[in-house]
Parts: sequence; C-alpha cells; structure tokens
Amino acid sequence: MKSETILEQAALHCESRGRKLTAKRRQVLAGLVKSQKALSAYDLADYCRDKLGTSLLPTSVYRILEFLESLGLVHRLNTANKYVACAHVTCDGANEIPQFLICQSCGSVKEIGITKSFVQGLSQAVEKVGFHLANNQLELECLCADCVVQQGGVQ
Ligand SMILES: [Zn+2]
Ligand SMILES: [Zn+2]
Repeated sequence: MKSETILEQAALHCESRGRKLTAKRRQVLAGLVKSQKALSAYDLADYCRDKLGTSLLPTSVYRILEFLESLGLVHRLNTANKYVACAHVTCDGANEIPQFLICQSCGSVKEIGITKSFVQGLSQAVEKVGFHLANNQLELECLCADCVVQQGGVQ
C-alpha cells in the first residue's frame, strides 16, 4: 500500500471514530509509515526532522503515538518500547490478533495476524501452570528473509 493511501485511510478511520488526524498527527504517522521500521518516540522525532522537515518534541511525538495507538493505527512493541505503523492501516475490529516478528539481526519488523483460537490455546497452556497471559501480543525473535540469506541459512 502506498503511504499516501495509508494516510488517507487513516484520516477516514479517525473521522469514523469522531477524531481528527491533525497535521501533526499525520506527520508522525507518515514518518512511521515511511521509515518502515520500529522506532521510539526519539527516533521518530529525529526521522521527522531529518526526512520530513518537521520539528516536533519527542514528548509531543509520544503523545501523538499514544493517540494513534488508541485508534489501532500504530502498535507498540513492548519488549523494545518502539512503535510500528499497523500493516493494515488499522487492526481495529479484525478477527485476528496482531503479532510481531522482529529480526534479531537488522531489527526489521513484520506484523502478522494470528487467529484468536491459537492465542486462546496458548493462553490455556499458560493457565495450566498457574500463570496468566498478561498480554496477547506476541513479539517473536526471528531472522528476516534478507538476513537468513546473508547468514547462509539457518543452522
Ligand atoms: Zn495492525
Ligand atoms: Zn533482518
């Protein structure tokens, strides 16, 4: 999906929730979509300044990210405390639960949908030993397709 299309759909999604994708919110989302990486609020403030010519304080970027996350437009990776743009504009109302594959070599992130029944099965296995799954979001350490090739395949 082209970044302009993603931004237009995101604006519509905000409107349908009675919220507004203001110019600043749009710029932050554009930065995250265009970088195609997981970024912290600080990384993203730098990216917006260097690549988009927008000066925003990291604290404002952080607040905007929280807003975008509340609408399902971005996801927060808990283990890395970084954000990625939703691969489907928004996972709001989807039947699958978004999960994240994180390349341990180059840091690239891929969002995939995993069925609710799979996550329920996992949750039951956790409950069996008396623990409770506190977060349905899985963040899996992986090697991306490029890095697998570079490293000559997985041993
Ligand atoms: Zn998503
Ligand atoms: Zn990689």
